[in-house]
Amino acid sequence: MNKITNHLPTAELQALDAAHHMHPFTANAELAAKGARVIKSAKGVWLTGSDGERYLDAMAGLWCVNLGYGREELAEAAAAQMRELPYYNTFFQTTHIPAIALAERLAELAPGDLNHVFFAAGGSEANDTNIRLVRTYWAAQGKPEKQVIISRKNAYHGSSIGSASLGGMTYMHAQGGLPIPGIVHIDQPHWWAEGGDLSPHDFGIARARQLAETIDEIGEDKVAAFIAEPIQGAGGVIVPPESYWPEVQRILAERDILFIADEVICGFGRTGNWFGSETLGLAPDIMTIAKGLSSGYQPIGGSIVSDRVADGLAATEFNHGYTYSGHPVACAVALENLRILDEEGIVARVREETAPYLAKAWASLGDHPLVGETAICGMMGSLALTPDKSSRAPFAEGGAAGMAVRERCFGNGLVMRAVGDRMIISPPLVISEDEIDTLIARARRSLDEGMADLQSAGLL
Ligand code: PMP
Repeated sequence: MNKITNHLPTAELQALDAAHHMHPFTANAELAAKGARVIKSAKGVWLTGSDGERYLDAMAGLWCVNLGYGREELAEAAAAQMRELPYYNTFFQTTHIPAIALAERLAELAPGDLNHVFFAAGGSEANDTNIRLVRTYWAAQGKPEKQVIISRKNAYHGSSIGSASLGGMTYMHAQGGLPIPGIVHIDQPHWWAEGGDLSPHDFGIARARQLAETIDEIGEDKVAAFIAEPIQGAGGVIVPPESYWPEVQRILAERDILFIADEVICGFGRTGNWFGSETLGLAPDIMTIAKGLSSGYQPIGGSIVSDRVADGLAATEFNHGYTYSGHPVACAVALENLRILDEEGIVARVREETAPYLAKAWASLGDHPLVGETAICGMMGSLALTPDKSSRAPFAEGGAAGMAVRERCFGNGLVMRAVGDRMIISPPLVISEDEIDTLIARARRSLDEGMADLQSAGLL
């Protein structure tokens, strides 16, 4: 029997999954006791489970299915490319047409002089490339001592040893001896949780100035780069105060270090422009891309690099690359995805119609007794859950409120993620206004039910 197309009953699938499949970011024994949710198919913004249950996927998978599920054109592009050339590498002075075409298209879409693409199979790999690339760049300029990369606490840049070291997740650093040397983390611009008595404006400036202080402490001659997500995603969709990014840009412009904007979530329309850097007024030297590049239909990522950095590396053999750098099928699917996002005006529609509509609806959840802050940028949003709005207090038992609401969301046919006690969304960009109404209604119901659960458990 073909276990994929003619599948077993759910309980048997769950038992096999528990027996043989190790899940990412999961306590596998706990999951085995419960049984994993089995997702079988999807269309638009809707997922269907193995027993026919339906969920509105307000997370676009893992922030990646920008175009929505079930686009035939992408399946066709993959099949056609598999027939023509299913694989070839880009090592050893060789190239192929899908990689050429996608690199050219990305150079066209990317702002400024970001004209060169180094491909990877995802965001973690691309950020590993970036670590080696910026350090190699400075060595090639006769400055091998410029090695330190500054990042931020609670940033997410991937799960490999290099990219997780760039990330600022302490619970990840605690496993496997991270971070690697030469990575320094400064504080995040998370006013709701860390702003104390400062106004958002003053807090944004203060957090930006930590970058200047840290560069000056280490010495500009030892700092290779600063890396940041335009909007922190996995950290909880943290929209920084408006004062933050202009001050960071000012600090970077005064100092000769490279700026890597990690656009893995913010790229490809999520903030209402092709890149979050455009929405937030950033001028990076390198952008990390993945996820929405192929709408998740194929694993592909990369680094888009400026003329300056590419020229500075041109005479050096960069001893780096992946078997699947510029995989032809992934490139063909990404190109088709970019064509549809462009020709159907999806990015412009987000900016002009759906993101403003979502912003208004999302803000309406701010009147819920459990919600302290609502934050949104384009098609990514968050709610801070709190037992006391006026003091911005955290829950005594961190994470329980987020988990309670998240469980209720699944029960109500909505996939909304919890990061501690922040609820986050990042729906497919093709979500309609009617579907946004459904999302908000289900979120509100889940907040009500989650609050009742917390009260009966004595946690509120
Ligand atoms: N950077 C950011 C900003 C991300 O959100 C992620 C994934 N969530 C990554 C990098 C890592 O990408 P991947 O999981 O494709 O390796």
